[in-house]
Amino acid sequence: MHVKLVKYTEDPERTCAVAAMYSVREKIPDELFTSVDYDKAMRVLRHVVASGHHSVLEHASFTFNVSGVSRALTHQLVRHRIASYTQQSQRYVKLKEKGYVTPKTISNSEFAEEYHSMMEKISSFYQHMLDSGIPAEDARYILPNATETSIVITMNARELLHFFTLRSCNRAQWEIRQLSDEMLRQCKEVAPVIFEKAGPGCIRGPCPEGKFYCGHPRTDEKLFQ
Ligand SMILES: Cc1cc2nc3c(=O)[nH]c(=O)nc-3n(C[C@H](O)[C@H](O)[C@H](O)COP(=O)(O)OP(=O)(O)OC[C@H]3O[C@@H](n4cnc5c(N)ncnc54)[C@H](O)[C@@H]3O)c2cc1C
Repeated sequence: MHVKLVKYTEDPERTCAVAAMYSVREKIPDELFTSVDYDKAMRVLRHVVASGHHSVLEHASFTFNVSGVSRALTHQLVRHRIASYTQQSQRYVKLKEKGYVTPKTISNSEFAEEYHSMMEKISSFYQHMLDSGIPAEDARYILPNATETSIVITMNARELLHFFTLRSCNRAQWEIRQLSDEMLRQCKEVAPVIFEKAGPGCIRGPCPEGKFYCGHPRTDEKLFQ
């Protein structure tokens, strides 16, 4: 899996903090967006994040370039509606051989060989259909959830906090959790205050999952400290 934060709002934390100051000031000079005292801005931001007044976090957006993930992952990902996505087309891009993801539970099992051989069979049948003139938009009907894909994701910081809560949780499926963890790690590097307490509910208090509690809070993991 390749995940790279390729673009983000310049000075995302000052931008959100100064935006928050609008609620208590008559006027905000343009220069404040670049010159506001860092410590003061971070105090405002910490208050905003802790108090749940998250609308100001919508002023910072983050774009990720993601590849080497399965269609099973992206199908879950695009359920998050407050985001923008551009995904590799299966109509215009003909897929490569061996372009599929293998879960560890399968690669470490007695099914590994059969799994790979089935993927190869599917791949050659797909190629054969293309070579025989079946349009790529139809030949793709044979492709499985495991098929590799690439996607560009843009989310604002508010949606990212929500995304990390749901998808860095142990209840989330492993591949999207891996993506979420890596996105969070990179967000923390550029906006450490906004994402200070980001992650599954268990790192901020009791697990919100009730009877579905996994029994393994992620509090001790480096990403959440
Ligand atoms: C562990 C796990 C298991 C899942 N299992 C299933 C499953 O079996 N089947 C299935 O179909 N889905 C499943 N999902 C997907 C899930 O139901 C959501 O579709 C997905 O997580 C997107 O989250 P969301 O709807 O909270 O928020 P987003 O789409 O990310 O939106 C963010 C927030 O904006 C607000 N919002 C967005 N759109 C609206 C709207 N139209 N009206 C009002 N408020 C809105 C809500 O507050 C929402 O929480 C699963 C998700 C997880 C994490």
